[in-house]
Amino acid sequence: MQIRARLTLQFITIVALTLLLAALAIYYFSEGHRKEDFFDRLNKKASNTAMLLIQFDEVDINLLKKMEADNPVSLPREKIIIYDYKDNIIYSTDEVSLFTIDKALLDNIRLNEEVRLKQGEYEILGFLFTHQYDRFVVIAGAVDIYGLKRMHNLRNILIIVVSISILLMLVSGWIYAGRALYPISRIISKGNEISITSLNLRLDEGNQKDEIAQLAGTFNKMLDRLETAFKSQKRFIANASHELRTPLTAITGQLEVLLMQDRTTEEYKRAVNSVLEDMKNLNSISNRLLLLAQASNDLSELNVKPIRIDETIWQCREELIRRNENNHIIVHLDNSLEDDAALTFMGDEQLVRTMIINLMDNGCKYSPDHTVEVTIGADQLQLLLTFTDRGIGIPEEDLAHVFEPFRRGQNAYPVKGHGIGLSLVERIVILHNGSIEVDSQPGEGTTFRVFLPQKTDPEFLTTF
Ligand code: ADP
Repeated sequence: MQIRARLTLQFITIVALTLLLAALAIYYFSEGHRKEDFFDRLNKKASNTAMLLIQFDEVDINLLKKMEADNPVSLPREKIIIYDYKDNIIYSTDEVSLFTIDKALLDNIRLNEEVRLKQGEYEILGFLFTHQYDRFVVIAGAVDIYGLKRMHNLRNILIIVVSISILLMLVSGWIYAGRALYPISRIISKGNEISITSLNLRLDEGNQKDEIAQLAGTFNKMLDRLETAFKSQKRFIANASHELRTPLTAITGQLEVLLMQDRTTEEYKRAVNSVLEDMKNLNSISNRLLLLAQASNDLSELNVKPIRIDETIWQCREELIRRNENNHIIVHLDNSLEDDAALTFMGDEQLVRTMIINLMDNGCKYSPDHTVEVTIGADQLQLLLTFTDRGIGIPEEDLAHVFEPFRRGQNAYPVKGHGIGLSLVERIVILHNGSIEVDSQPGEGTTFRVFLPQKTDPEFLTTF
């Protein structure tokens, strides 16, 4: 069922129940009031008749009947019967014995002083009338023609009013629900227009205040993020293919030139070496792209185990020095970190090594003295790794973009690179629930700070 129909139905059920309850209450209390009023009049009238008959000797039965016949205050179809203490009828206007009065009823009236009952359309009141030492039972009955008619009319009016009100509420509820949901319908139809080729479209945020406007705003923010992600993915693919194409074009070109004429063994050797160099380059790019894809996945799929950060850093240092003996890597260990647990954290060793090697390598690569200082420290419950160099630095306008794939600083071009390393580092850090910061002054040097949760951090343990 659509929300519009459901809202209308709920609304109409509440309104109908309230109206019905109100109508029933009105009818019930009016009926009570009518009865009370009718029995009161019956009582007064019958008491009056009994008083005339019993207290005044001048008034005999026949005279009283005559007086009663012409009495304008008599109730419609009024019948009065008076019994003495022996249950003998001393006065009755019920000639055809319409009422069924038995001994039990008379005893009941004597016991309770007043009894009300209904026989057919007659409402009957029986009460005890005492005079000096005599006790009489007076039975008076009549048909409340006018009262019942009033109640009948009231019932009809209530049925008509309640039915018309429910009908009106149904129509207005339907219109109201439609109007209330109109902004949502608009969002739905606009949302249907947005596809992968029109990610630039946005939903109308209306007055920008109510919940629906907030919903549209949330959708729009999500679309912003999707559009950015989509654009950066497109840019990433374009950059990746460009990076892969460059060495491929170089290889093809070199091989074509080589095949144009016969070459000496020396020339072939030189060409093969050059092609090999390009192939190595290609291999390194595809390996990094693969690592980037791997680091984008869930850490639960990776090989997570406790890592001693100091040992890993020393191993990475050795490897980088092996790669290039000019590299100079100085490692400091903060005194506060003597505890084994403080130096340990959970992670994927291969990824963590990639992260450290990239940061160390950059420090050496972009510094004329090929020197980087690595400090292992702690910041509250986090491991803090600092990589500082006194190299070329990163220009201010590039600083915000260095973690984006394939982004390289303007001053980095003399140095070989593909712009993948830092984006890989950032993803690895995020995967390990950590964070990374960079500070740099062009011409003075650069500092990267990596924060990683220690194994002792209780919050950290819950994430694995
Ligand atoms: P690559 O070094 O292959 O270009 P990275 O992703 O590792 O790619 O680095 C991105 C860019 O960030 C580099 O091109 C360079 O401009 C800048 N950069 C990174 N580390 C340093 C550093 N230690 N000193 C100066 N610039 C750096």
